[in-house]
Amino acid sequence: MRWTVDLPDLAATQALAELLEPLGTVGDVITLEGDLGAGKTAFARAFIQARFGAIDVPSPTFNLVLTYGDGAGLIWHFDLYRLEDQDEVYELGFEEALDGALSLIEWPERLGSLLPVERLSLTFEMAADDRRSLIIDATERWARRLQPLAMARNWVKD
Ligand code: ADP
Ligand code: MG
Repeated sequence: MRWTVDLPDLAATQALAELLEPLGTVGDVITLEGDLGAGKTAFARAFIQARFGAIDVPSPTFNLVLTYGDGAGLIWHFDLYRLEDQDEVYELGFEEALDGALSLIEWPERLGSLLPVERLSLTFEMAADDRRSLIIDATERWARRLQPLAMARNWVKD
């Protein structure tokens, strides 16, 4: 299932992250695509803050991954822009993240064949001014979870 959602400004991106956050649990993968400055980190930050409060959420540009929380609420935030080889992701603890955390992954393209099939894929497209157009690609499992939200919010089906 695919929806397109208009995000007129940063607040709209943050509000969407806050709507999606309660749906995410351990083992989930949410990928964030889009050009530099499209809003991937802004989305991840709002998602993490929705779960843990107003904590500092820097971009994992240099660390490649930063982790938040513990137990069932654990979130791993990846930025794989600087990943040189897809197998390097295992050194970051990728398997542990897939098993025991919710993974938010910027630049998932870098994973190549390691990209999990079962995931929620969010693609941010930049338009004029602050406007972003978000394409939500949901597997069947994700679509079932998102359906009530999609209906309540009148998301446009592609
Ligand atoms: P990325 O991680 O995709 O490179 P960032 O989230 O770091 O991008 O940066 C996005 C920038 O764009 C931020 O400065 C943010 O304030 C700004 N911005 C403006 N409008 C939006 C919007 N609608 N959604 C997300 N970010 C926006
Ligand atoms: Mg970023």
